[in-house]
Amino acid sequence: MIPAQWDRRIRRATELTSTYPFGAEGLRFYTRVATFQKSLYAEIQKALKDSPKISADRPLRDELDFFLLLPHFSPFLSVIQQIAPPPLAQAAVGLAQKGPVGWQHAIEDFWHGDPELASAVDDAEELRTGDSRESTSSDRLLAWIFLQPYAEYLAAHREPTIVDGTPSTCPLCGGKPIVGVLRSEGDGAKKSLICMLCAHEWTFRRIYCPACGEEREPQMAFYSAPEIAHVRVDVCDTCHTYLKNIDLTKTGLAVPIVDELATIPLDLWAVEHGYKKLQINMLGI
Ligand SMILES: [Zn+2]
Ligand SMILES: [Zn+2]
Repeated sequence: MIPAQWDRRIRRATELTSTYPFGAEGLRFYTRVATFQKSLYAEIQKALKDSPKISADRPLRDELDFFLLLPHFSPFLSVIQQIAPPPLAQAAVGLAQKGPVGWQHAIEDFWHGDPELASAVDDAEELRTGDSRESTSSDRLLAWIFLQPYAEYLAAHREPTIVDGTPSTCPLCGGKPIVGVLRSEGDGAKKSLICMLCAHEWTFRRIYCPACGEEREPQMAFYSAPEIAHVRVDVCDTCHTYLKNIDLTKTGLAVPIVDELATIPLDLWAVEHGYKKLQINMLGI
């Protein structure tokens, strides 16, 4: 059975399309991406169902099954060409033309390389330099979206890891957090972070910057807007980084990665105030 998280995400994105018209275009794109990811997850699950659990001391990114993944990459690029906003659709056309060797390179480059993803804007520069052997930021963005279901499957099928302290990157795969979550605990709220790649959620400190380690309270602040009260923007005034946090104590219906994508006005606010996002999302925002 395919885990329910895919349907939950798709349902939430559909709901928010009407609640937050400003996010509608991005959410419609996400809904179709998540539908593709759900079917890819099902394929991965079918292929790996008899594989033993991965041992907890093996880094998640030691795994990479090209035999399984590569046949799905070209159909993925076709879907993206049909549904993505123009710059990403164009990037998918470019990557499709590179053929299997280029696809493998893009996947490996993202999986084993620096997980840093630049925004699509930076790509224009890379494309002008025109070195087709190199993966562009858009290639990495595409590889990231493609690999998410695989990473999620691996994260869900390994022995439990004992996490030391509260790391700023994912204890399973080393990915950056894409969004924070607040859940109720006793009289207060417990904070955790969700990984941009494998969607693993790990406990985090309430007042601590995952980008630079700042922990002095006056340097850390959070902002929210009354019309999107359950999402707040946590900023660090030492490194000028921000990360959105979804407050599930205010609405249990939220699905953090979807609500993060939907709340674009908060990104605009943060950027206007000089903050840079810790990790861009699949809309390149
Ligand atoms: Zn991870
Ligand atoms: Zn910081």
